[in-house]
Amino acid sequence: MNNQCVFCKIARKELPADITHEDEDFLAFLDINPVNRGHTLLIPKSHYANLYDLSDETISKMSVLMKKIAASVKRAAKADGINLIMNVEGAAGQIVPHAHFHIIPRFSNDGLRHWPGKPYANKEESAEMANAIRRIAYSQ
Ligand code: AMP
Ligand code: ZN
Repeated sequence: MNNQCVFCKIARKELPADITHEDEDFLAFLDINPVNRGHTLLIPKSHYANLYDLSDETISKMSVLMKKIAASVKRAAKADGINLIMNVEGAAGQIVPHAHFHIIPRFSNDGLRHWPGKPYANKEESAEMANAIRRIAYSQ
């Protein structure tokens, strides 16, 4: 637990939240500033700053739970689709440094756009990037 962390405070019930799921390890609640109605955050109750601090066991359990919650959010919000997002570190838009997934209901006509793509200059550039990722992944 982190005394200053807003999500730890929600987990400890020191701050109010519209809780939609609670078990021993995880809490889901409505985002206070939703992209669309029903936008939900899923957190581990223990404080981990981001994805890299989550154990394999925690992320596995969290993923299974996220799948269930996504189905409930979709039905409750009468959504056409769902975005599952984890912002990892500030450069990726993480503001609250307590690992969390966003479960965002989406509607065919909600007017939101996805990130613009930046195509690779050529096949060599993409092959080099894929190589670099594989090298690092398999050297660990
Ligand atoms: P991120 O940018 O991924 O760190 O997202 C943090 C999210 O937490 C934002 O979407 C905020 O609207 C949401 N948020 C911040 N404080 C609260 C709170 N007290 N209750 C519910 N959601 C919150
Ligand atoms: Zn925390």
